[in-house]
Amino acid sequence: MLASERQKQIKELVVRRKALKISELSERFQVSDMTIHRDIKAMVASGFVVKTFGGISLANQDTNVSNRNECVVCYKTINNRLSCRLILTENRVETACCMHCGFIRNQMLDNEVLEILCDDFFTNTTISARNAYFVLETTLDLGCCQPQFLPFNQSEHAKRFARGFGGNVVTFTEAMEKEAKQREKSKGCC
Ligand SMILES: [Zn+2]
Ligand SMILES: [Zn+2]
Repeated sequence: MLASERQKQIKELVVRRKALKISELSERFQVSDMTIHRDIKAMVASGFVVKTFGGISLANQDTNVSNRNECVVCYKTINNRLSCRLILTENRVETACCMHCGFIRNQMLDNEVLEILCDDFFTNTTISARNAYFVLETTLDLGCCQPQFLPFNQSEHAKRFARGFGGNVVTFTEAMEKEAKQREKSKGCC
C-alpha cells in the first residue's frame, strides 16, 4: 500500500473513531510504529489531529457545537459569503470557510456527507453544491483558500462571471477532481 493511501485511510478512521492507537494502526496496516509516526506527522502539523499518549485523536471534536465560526478543515474564521455547510449523517452539520475546504472535507468523509450547501456567488441564495457550477482560476482574489471555487446556481451566471473576471466554469464533479489533483501536487492541505 502506498503511504498516501495509508494516510488517507488513517484520516478516515480517525474521523470516524475520534481516537486511535499507534499500535493498532501499525498492526492494521502491517507496518512499523515508526512508519505510522511518519504518516501522522503532517496531520499533527496541520492541526487535523492531536497526539495523545500512544496514539492520536481528532482535533476540534465538537465542531458541530461550539466552533461554528471556524472552518472544520483549516480553522479560518468563517466568512458567510464564501462558507459552505456539510450536512452529515446523524444530524451533524459542519462548516467550511469556502468550497475549497468543502471539497477536502467532502472527500475525507465521503459517504457520510448527505448534502453540501453553499451560497450562490451572484444572488447570495443557498444552493446545493452538487448541482452548482464553479468558476475556477478567476483573477479576482477573495482572500480565502487557493485554488478558489466560486459557486453559481446557473451555468450562465458562472460563464458571465468568468468572462468578466477570468476563469473556467466546471461542474461539482470536475471541481472535486481538480481540487484532488492540485492537492496531490502540493501534498498539503490549504
Ligand atoms: Zn478552510
Ligand atoms: Zn477557505
